[in-house]
Amino acid sequence: MKKIVLASNNAGKLREFAQLLATFDYEVLPQSAFNVPEADEPHCTFVENALAKARHAAKLTGLPALADDSGICVTALGGAPGVYSARYAGEPKSDERNNQKMIAALQGQSDRRAHYVAVLVFVRHAGDPQPIVVEGEWHGEIIDTPRGAGGFGYDPYFLVPDLQQTAAEISAEEKNKRSHRGKALTLLIERLKLNT
Ligand code: IMP
Repeated sequence: MKKIVLASNNAGKLREFAQLLATFDYEVLPQSAFNVPEADEPHCTFVENALAKARHAAKLTGLPALADDSGICVTALGGAPGVYSARYAGEPKSDERNNQKMIAALQGQSDRRAHYVAVLVFVRHAGDPQPIVVEGEWHGEIIDTPRGAGGFGYDPYFLVPDLQQTAAEISAEEKNKRSHRGKALTLLIERLKLNT
């Protein structure tokens, strides 16, 4: 199997990526297995942050690397919280405080549109001049009262219009089929088939 390092230590992401990429003969290893410290995410776009994380992991391990960066962009808030989604309400990061801040910012606002974004970047080596970059989006609306116990982050407030359910009310399988991350992963697999 070909080894890839995942530029994240998130167990959920590792499981998801490992399962899907195993079919293509890739073994996905977390960067913690190589003592790679977390890279800085200083940039103001998802793609720049994902690319920085992928190059950092590839440089320190000598392996091909995969990184992702994701968040939610609320239209009436000019795309905020965007790349700052995880820490929208500051440190220490808290989903509950992030959601409260988002709902407070939307009070009196009739435009409730929002979309999740996930960018995945794959580099064959640290200096790869042609990284594979894919992006997935998932569009919905923000509601004021949370619903559902599944998912994480902003999911209880993210209404999927055609289902009239929140991302926290649908099953994990349904979420994977529709989500920004699921869509980006499907695109990544297509590109890996052609480019590696
Ligand atoms: P990161 O990509 O691990 O940096 O996560 C970015 C942040 O975006 C998370 O901490 C969540 O707040 C938010 N986020 C990204 N994807 C989702 C999702 O599928 N559901 C809910 N929140 C998400």
